[in-house]
Formats: sequence, C-alpha cells, structure tokens
Amino acid sequence: MRHGPFEVVRDKNPYFQLSPKFPGVAMSTCAKTRRIVWQSLLFLPLGLLLTKSAPADPASLIARIERLPRAQRLPAYDAALADPGLAPADRPAVLKAFARHAQQVSPLYGKAKAAWDERSWAAALEAGLDSARPDVDVAIALAQILVDANERRRAIPVVSAFKSAFPSHHYALAWSEWCNAPGRAEDASRLPTFPLHFCVLTRNPEAQRVATRAQCQKECEILNSTFRALDGAPLVRFELKGYTPFVALRNSSSELLRYGDGTRFDSDSVAKVFNACRDPLVRDPGAINIYVFDSFERQGDADVTSHGKRNSNRPYVFLDWQRLDNRTQNAEAHEMGHAFGLEHVGVPGAGLQDSTNIMTSAGEGFGSGGRRDLGFSPAQIAIIRYHAGRTATRLGLRK
Ligand SMILES: [Zn+2]
Repeated sequence: MRHGPFEVVRDKNPYFQLSPKFPGVAMSTCAKTRRIVWQSLLFLPLGLLLTKSAPADPASLIARIERLPRAQRLPAYDAALADPGLAPADRPAVLKAFARHAQQVSPLYGKAKAAWDERSWAAALEAGLDSARPDVDVAIALAQILVDANERRRAIPVVSAFKSAFPSHHYALAWSEWCNAPGRAEDASRLPTFPLHFCVLTRNPEAQRVATRAQCQKECEILNSTFRALDGAPLVRFELKGYTPFVALRNSSSELLRYGDGTRFDSDSVAKVFNACRDPLVRDPGAINIYVFDSFERQGDADVTSHGKRNSNRPYVFLDWQRLDNRTQNAEAHEMGHAFGLEHVGVPGAGLQDSTNIMTSAGEGFGSGGRRDLGFSPAQIAIIRYHAGRTATRLGLRK
C-alpha cells in the first residue's frame, strides 16, 4: 500500500490484503440514536438523483450514485435503501454497493463533516444479510460496525456466516478470534515483540546523514508510542534488532538496492525481489525490515511516498527518508498498519488538520487523510492481533 505526501494515492491492491491518548473522539456513538444529518451539500444532488430514480433498475441507480463524489455516495445509498419505491428484488444489489463504501468508514475514524446513524446502517445490513450465502461486502460492513460497537452477541452469527462462506478470508478469521475473546486485556509485559531491521537503501548523502542508527532507534520508539489503540493501549512492541548503513551495502548484489532511489515502485516486483533476497545485510528474515529510501517518482524531491506490505506475513516497509522522525501524517504507524494487514479508511469531509484514524487516506476519496493521530478501532485491532500471531510464526519468533 502506498500513499503520497500530498495525498496522491494509488494503492494497487485495495481488497483482500486487506495512542497515546488522542483527544477529541468518543469511543462509541452507538449509545444514542442520531438522526441522519448528511447535510446541505448532499441533499441537492441526492434529491435530483432520487426523484428521477425510484423506478430505475438497480444497475442504473448504482451507476448514477457512483458518479457522485465519494463522500456523497453513502448518503445517496442510504436514501435509496430507505426509499419505499425500491423493489425487494433490487435491494441486494443496492445494499452491496452501499456496503462497499460503508466498510471503509466508522465514527471511530474521526469526526465526519456529516454524521450518520450506524444503528440504522447495521439494521439495514442485518436485514439484507443472507446467512446461508452472505455477500462478502455486506458481511464485512456489518461485522465491522458490530465489532467496533462491541456488540459481540450480534456479531457472532454474522461473523460465523462470513467465516463459513469465506473460510480463508483474513477478516472473517480475525473477527472470529475477536468473537471468542473480545477486548482481550493485554498485559504490557506479554505483548508480542517484533524485531526491526533498518536498512538505508538510498544513495542520497543527505538522507544517509539523517538515517543514523540513533535515528532508527528513535523510529522504534516512535512506533511504540504511536502504533496503538484508540484508547492509547499498546498492541505490540517493536525493538531495534539491526541497522545497515548504506556504506555497508557496497558489495551487495541484492536487486533491492535498485529501489533505494526513486525507481518506479511496482509493489509486486518489489515483493518478489525482497522474497528472493538472501543477503542478511539487506533482508533479515527474522525481523520486520524497514528500508529508508528516497522516493521521487512522481513529485520530484518533494515526493515522500512510502509503502508498507504484509507480504504474506513477512512484512516490510519502505519509508522515505523525509518521513523519518514522524514528520508527516504519522507515516511510521500508517505503514506498519499496512504491514499488519490493514487497508485504507476514510473520514467523509475530513480536512488536513483534522484528527483521523491512522489508516485514513485521501486516496479513498472521502476527504483528506488528516492528521492520522487517532489509534486503531476494535475491528482494526482484531486484524492486527490476528496477523501479529501469523507474522510471529512466519518470522520464526515463536514455535
Ligand atoms: Zn497507505
């Protein structure tokens, strides 16, 4: 997954790969039913859309909604689903289209410009979920709402149907673990610990001056203080295991060196090269490898695009050297979130200075990526914990 410094985002694989005390966000908005208040910017196009659309076939209704700016599509689907003119036979297609967007937002991700009633969303999704043959998007959207709202009793049959239909889907497996042990209290001393190996891949002398061992030690501390739950609880621990300065790579034949300085970054090609690398100075197979590189593929020197990849639980991160010291949008925790299997999320209408979830990305089209200073939600934490276990096994950190 990748994202740009100025919010130019083109993630390649958006689907199956799937805090410290941060102020300003309530843990749940579920306790009190709120009116749907998608506000004035939404109503004009929505009104036009629906007055013309009641008898339309679902495909053309969906096509019209999909042409709206993304932040307007959820309320448009919301209204379409509440429209008594929507034929029962057309409802599943519209619900699925709605769920594809709904699964990327949550009240826990930040304060949206216009709030929504997640209880009404859950009710609509629940009513439309076919337990015998659940639609994957409907199942994800519904399970996420229920896990984030800590509604375990309601989540159990949903996650169970999801897992039966998609037995290898990581989200189904992660949320199934949550159903068995929700809100598992972690003793800080027993958190899984992940060793980090930093490797300076860039030839840029300025970057090499900045990316010292001491700075990489500091990066571990940054991750330990930012890779956290919404309530500030730590989820895993990171420790510095190794550091390879660029000067030590002089004789390495690893092809990974090609990606140190602004070469076109193709995620699949990089993964192949990484997995084939046998040089322990470049890749420590028993650690999460973090490559300090210089990205300038799209925006010249200002490009600080970074990348994090789970890579079948052999995760790595490419961190632009100008992102060191957590200078922009909480890059370290964001990329590590991808490394633990998380995808981008959105906060409708968010501005650059707004508090947002760590995984928020402007590339999803809901709004700005914001500050990314809000910790992970319960549904995200369940995915992190699930992959933490798999990653620890894959890296040989436990039997
Ligand atoms: Zn990203």
